[in-house]
Amino acid sequence: MPILPPHKDPMGNAIADYFRYGKSSTLRVFSSQFDEDEIPVEQLFRTYNEMPHIERRALDLSQGAILDVGAGSGCHALALQAMGKSVTAIDISELATDTMRQRGVLDARNVDLYDVRLTDTFDTILLLMNGSGIIGNLEGMGRFFSTMKRLLRPGGCIYMDSSDLKYLFEEEDGSYLIDIAGEYYGMVDFRMQYCNIKGDTFDWLYIDFDTLAYYAGQYGFGVELVCEGEHYDYLAKLTLGASR
Ligand code: SAH
Repeated sequence: MPILPPHKDPMGNAIADYFRYGKSSTLRVFSSQFDEDEIPVEQLFRTYNEMPHIERRALDLSQGAILDVGAGSGCHALALQAMGKSVTAIDISELATDTMRQRGVLDARNVDLYDVRLTDTFDTILLLMNGSGIIGNLEGMGRFFSTMKRLLRPGGCIYMDSSDLKYLFEEEDGSYLIDIAGEYYGMVDFRMQYCNIKGDTFDWLYIDFDTLAYYAGQYGFGVELVCEGEHYDYLAKLTLGASR
């Protein structure tokens, strides 16, 4: 995935505007699977105390050299710095990366997670706010786990949050109507729009814990359920070579 220039980057423009003016226009989200929605831009600027507890837990557990993947406005990176921790924040968005630097993120880099020029290694890798989305779809698992192997230091770990979208298929009697012969139900396509700036469609993976554990195992990673959130969301810890 190439670096996102401003004219193709609705979320980056929303982040830059909110930082500059303290407000922004509507950040709209379209998907072939859902009704039109919006992302509250102020939530991208949440402080530690405003974060859901699964995110706070991930920050508390992070140690050593930390990589914040898809760091957005830098909310997690700033919270980690305030705890005295050492963090590298990466984002494909030029505008988000500029904003992070202006907000005081000491090591903010405009780079794609999958770019082989990212040669540093880390003790903790963070993927937060449905961080599994960056895997894209189930076909993206091999690329994701080989990248994690390259970036992780020995003994290091990954903290990633996700949600089980099965609740979208819940029937009135509490059962779930899921077509198991069809595509995996967590594969979502999104497109965003901010003012007249339209982004390209991209795939964003939501994954339930068992499916994540299955794929992680295929690539030599062990998974632990660290904690669960309030609505089918959870934080997972992935480590190389360990079993569940
Ligand atoms: N983690 C932030 C932002 C989440 S939005 C928060 O919790 O508020 C997801 C972010 O990931 C966006 O800023 C997007 O530009 C970035 N992103 C998407 N794909 C990426 C990739 N391959 N490498 C690095 N960043 C990516």
